[in-house]
Amino acid sequence: MLSIKEVYEEFEKIGCCSFATLDGRGGVESRIAHFFAYDDEGLYLRTMDVKPFFRQLVEGGCVSVCGERTEAPCTWDEDNMPHFMPGRMVRVSGRVRLLAPDEVSAKAAANPQFNVAVYDLNKYPRTRVLVLCRAHGEVYDYDFNMVHRDHKILRERFCWGGDELEPAGLSIDAEKCVACGACAGACTHKAIVPGADGGAYAILGERCDECGNCFNACPAGAVVQKGLA
Ligand code: SF4
Ligand code: SF4
Repeated sequence: MLSIKEVYEEFEKIGCCSFATLDGRGGVESRIAHFFAYDDEGLYLRTMDVKPFFRQLVEGGCVSVCGERTEAPCTWDEDNMPHFMPGRMVRVSGRVRLLAPDEVSAKAAANPQFNVAVYDLNKYPRTRVLVLCRAHGEVYDYDFNMVHRDHKILRERFCWGGDELEPAGLSIDAEKCVACGACAGACTHKAIVPGADGGAYAILGERCDECGNCFNACPAGAVVQKGLA
């Protein structure tokens, strides 16, 4: 499982990302922001307490962040079909905690990444620091045209602070599977493998894009969504 440091580095390679919050009126809002530090507790963000972003973070208590980096923009062929060059997406969602000023000072004393927070606090005294302290997410590495490898996607999930890790992808109920192979034939992601000695097939969750083709193809009703098995 990816560490908090590795997740931070994924976001750092992207730079600024989309931060979505509950708006307190039954809707959601997003804006571009930035994680500036990490430690064992989580990822750190800052904003000013006069912004709606801050109010939504504190009142809603949560945030969902995602970003992407790719080798090139999407292009369109003569059939108006999109072609994506390889890239990586990262997303994380969870609970945030507001830090007291003395906590920020203590962290800055031990972690140079907090220099920017101290600088902002001096220049913009309404600056506040929050930590994404209980979270789960995923890095989604895509190569849909299989430029660099022989399958399209590779997903890696992570969590910290007490959040649970839910594996990616659909799954196969081994009790129902009759090992006909129809699902593997329907999967364009090379995500389904036969069992040993003619046994039940299995889905490699890290390659599964949850497209549903195997769900449609299975004559035995053996393909199940996660959590519904
Ligand atoms: S849902 Fe789609 S990608 Fe996932 S295993 Fe089934 S066919 Fe393959
Ligand atoms: S199509 Fe259904 S029964 Fe056939 S191998 Fe796949 S999961 Fe098993």
